[in-house]
Amino acid sequence: MIEVTNLVKCYGSHVAVNHAEFTIEKGEIVGFLGPNGAGKSTTMNILTGYISSTKGQALINGVDILDEPLKAKKDIGYLPEQPPLYLDMTVKDYLNFVYDLKKCKLPRKSHLDDICELVMIKDVYNRIIRNLSKGYKQRVGLAQALISNPPILILDEPTVGLDPKQIIEIRSLIKKLGKKHTVILSSHILSEVQAVCDRVIIINKGLIAADDTTENLTKSVTNDHRIIVRIDGKKDEVLKVIKGISGVVSVNADMEREKGTYDYEIETKEDTDIRRELFKRVSARNWVILGLKTTEMTLEDIFLKITMGDSIIIKKRSDESKYADIVQSAGEALNEVPENKAEIISDEKSDETQG
Ligand code: ADP
Ligand code: MG
Repeated sequence: MIEVTNLVKCYGSHVAVNHAEFTIEKGEIVGFLGPNGAGKSTTMNILTGYISSTKGQALINGVDILDEPLKAKKDIGYLPEQPPLYLDMTVKDYLNFVYDLKKCKLPRKSHLDDICELVMIKDVYNRIIRNLSKGYKQRVGLAQALISNPPILILDEPTVGLDPKQIIEIRSLIKKLGKKHTVILSSHILSEVQAVCDRVIIINKGLIAADDTTENLTKSVTNDHRIIVRIDGKKDEVLKVIKGISGVVSVNADMEREKGTYDYEIETKEDTDIRRELFKRVSARNWVILGLKTTEMTLEDIFLKITMGDSIIIKKRSDESKYADIVQSAGEALNEVPENKAEIISDEKSDETQG
């Protein structure tokens, strides 16, 4: 089980993770979803003890990753965005090397055999890693994470750079791993997370914007009804008239489609059908409706809305009211002087050395 409370990570004055709070139970497959730069890798690097947090706490099976890193890390297998491979080694030498490094106690030969079988790299066991395809390299990276048989697997963008066939292979492998391990994976691609995960945590600009099961998130957004209507009429007046219809939550005009004609995207309250009223009001003004369709919002829509719009939609799995506090304190964090200056300076230094 992973418990994260009030986690903050600042790089200098930049807040990369902003009061993140979540709990991941044993056996879950959870996706961190967010655009590039959202703070996914930073969060994963903190959970795995690779970097320290500025504030807050991360517990791995009850053990604080900062207080007892060795003990906490024993429970984690980590596949960073760039798999930590030694390219000049053979798969065999590399996995044996990791086995020794992790002081693994399981029977060497049969354990490594089992892992290679599971991640399907038996046929390249004696090959030099450099010469393997990206898909194989990624699976060797997964094998490395599985040595010492950790209950928790953390995988950072595990399918990035793979071709469609390799993506399907890795996905089904992750699903298989999910039967025995708690899995956290990150992705900037919604379909990826939808295909593999039971639950999704959407991260945007360091803030957790949504946290729910994929099923619930989809359900909660498909209740919101949307109509797209193409009207030939004066834009500003059309907007005003639509806004005046009871049940309309919001209306936006899209770009000009034909001369003087716009698509209007209307969101209405649940269980309200405004189409008849819309028709009456439009025709009363001698405007013309050139098209009308109702669309259900998809998870893709909610993701785009969260990550591109200015408003954040929040679906908090556990405690709705608690979220208000987090948002407030997140706002504060942006103005706050980070608590542990020494730690931040050392991070920046290590940046330079990493080049
Ligand atoms: P993601 O994995 O979601 O793409 P990251 O966690 O890598 O996002 O980055 C979050 C933010 O923190 C980004 O704005 C990134 O530029 C910044 N950042 C990440 N690592 C460092 C670092 N070592 N030094 C300074 N800024 C960083
Ligand atoms: Mg990343």
